[in-house]
Amino acid sequence: MNIWIVHSWIKKIHWVRVAVLCLLLTHLCIPIRPALAVPLATDTDVIIDVGHGGIDGGTTFGTLYEKDINLIIANKLYKELTRQGLAVIVDRTGDHALSDHNQWLKNPSRHRRDLAQRKQLANELHPKLMVSLHVNWSKRPIHRGPLVMHQNTELSVFLAEMIQNSMNRLFNTRKLAIHGKPFYLLNHTTCPTVIVEMGYISNIEDRNRLTTTKGQDAITKSISEGIMEFLAMLETYQKADEAN
Ligand SMILES: [Zn+2]
Repeated sequence: MNIWIVHSWIKKIHWVRVAVLCLLLTHLCIPIRPALAVPLATDTDVIIDVGHGGIDGGTTFGTLYEKDINLIIANKLYKELTRQGLAVIVDRTGDHALSDHNQWLKNPSRHRRDLAQRKQLANELHPKLMVSLHVNWSKRPIHRGPLVMHQNTELSVFLAEMIQNSMNRLFNTRKLAIHGKPFYLLNHTTCPTVIVEMGYISNIEDRNRLTTTKGQDAITKSISEGIMEFLAMLETYQKADEAN
């Protein structure tokens, strides 16, 4: 091929690249407010999903069961958030499996019926947010600290980061919230939902915090502060929406 023809093609490709780049920059430089899907008006502010229960003990350490720790902290969180004036619902108040309440899903898996029951409550009540309480475990006792997992939505990410940061301050950790991609609850609820792993039962320091009144109160306070921060942000967005 003639060298000038090649040169002319390279020039053409160059200008196409420049045009695409300009287009991208034009879009990127427009100041946009994050497109947040602000939830509809609702009577329920928060649903506390209490992980496991009944036949499903969750993770264990000796005679300690995750399901019991989740329930204790859920009760404390319920009291703290209602004290702050929020309308709160807890989906398990005793030691039972939520699959027992699920008569509507004809699925042979007890685990799936349990999770479906939890998400159905959230999808019918449309709360401003849902927090699912859990306890972590690792075969390496050195692993410690809280971990918050979010959905693939902006609001869920904000909620997760606010709770994670608040808990990091308590645990003196610097963990980042992560996308909980494989988790049923996160994939099937329509409200901003996060899973809060409140520490490792397999780590002595975390276990002390998870099983003493003082530690449980501190965990409750840190989760509550993250939730209140999120709700304050949500209110700001809603007011801005109304003003527009
Ligand atoms: Zn769990």
